[in-house]
Amino acid sequence: MKLVLASSNPGKLREFGALFADSGFDVVPQASLGVDDAEETGLSFVENALLKARHAARATGLPALADDSGLCVDHLGGAPGLYSARYSGDHGNAAANNAKLLQALEGVPEERRSAFFIGVLVLLRHAEDPAPLIAEGRWYGRILTEGRGTGGFGYNPVFLPDGYAQSVAEMDDALKNRLSHRGQALALLHERLRELHWQ
Ligand code: IMP
Repeated sequence: MKLVLASSNPGKLREFGALFADSGFDVVPQASLGVDDAEETGLSFVENALLKARHAARATGLPALADDSGLCVDHLGGAPGLYSARYSGDHGNAAANNAKLLQALEGVPEERRSAFFIGVLVLLRHAEDPAPLIAEGRWYGRILTEGRGTGGFGYNPVFLPDGYAQSVAEMDDALKNRLSHRGQALALLHERLRELHWQ
């Protein structure tokens, strides 16, 4: 049975393919089925993940999996939030996004630089599924005053997870995947799938 992934990011395809490897589902990216991107008009991560999954399920007639994630900074009222990828413009340039964030927090003391990454996963069995599986992870920390490290993507260099002396960009992948919002959400989804005997 095919499961359509409402993303064309190769990293996510690998992660989700592994998650569903034992379940008999073949995870395929929506682009390979000719599905375009959904409009992300929701006001929260979970709403956008639902919109994306429903769009993919409706277009293909298959069960669909979607995720949505971002960074929320308390001092900025939750920004960049839903706009994390394009905080500094539609180009989605991570260096420019980080520079804008550091500038927005210029002079803000350490104790008021708290933030968290959030990742939400949604699995719909079909487009009208009234009971989607939803799994959320949150990774708490604070924003550094300058970027450190080169690993990964996005806001990794400026995020210092609580309880660690390394930025996310200084962590190895195994540690990051164990701690991260996406890792937490994946583990929860895995648990729920087993409880519900979907795998
Ligand atoms: P999306 O869910 O792929 O649209 O990601 C939204 C944006 O949030 C990304 O482009 C990054 O800017 C940011 N983001 C989400 N997760 C992470 C992470 O683990 N590290 C760094 N940035 C992240």
